[in-house]
Amino acid sequence: MDKNTSSTTELKNAGLKVTIPRLKILELFLHAETRHVSADEVYRTLIDNDIEIGIATVYRVLTQFVEAGILLRHNFDNEHSVYELEHGNHHDHLLCTKCGKVEEFLSEEIEQIQRDIAKAKQFDMTDHTLVIYGICKQCCKTIK
Ligand SMILES: [Zn+2]
Ligand SMILES: [Zn+2]
Repeated sequence: MDKNTSSTTELKNAGLKVTIPRLKILELFLHAETRHVSADEVYRTLIDNDIEIGIATVYRVLTQFVEAGILLRHNFDNEHSVYELEHGNHHDHLLCTKCGKVEEFLSEEIEQIQRDIAKAKQFDMTDHTLVIYGICKQCCKTIK
């Protein structure tokens, strides 16, 4: 199956009509080097690739993708909302507050502690988010 066919299928499976902006944005996520992308980065990448699109359309399509379960939106803070493909594999995040870079991590120990806490509180946990804020290795180097 070529990449076009699979993107088309994914849109149809999500109950979305196949349109050029939707295809282009989905493909950007499927082939992006970084998994966590902001709306602005989506917009700039499309413009750089000579795809005519407005920022409003980018936001609209991203919202539709979140509602359709194709993308996850993380509102780390007002300046750093990023989107990533929903693969169903849970993980937590580290956010660099200087450059906005997002890294992923998963600690089975932390996961278990959270399940234990919920259980002790007789709380039926459906989800959790954990974000570590700070300065990434790269930015630490430039500060010094
Ligand atoms: Zn950084
Ligand atoms: Zn992630």
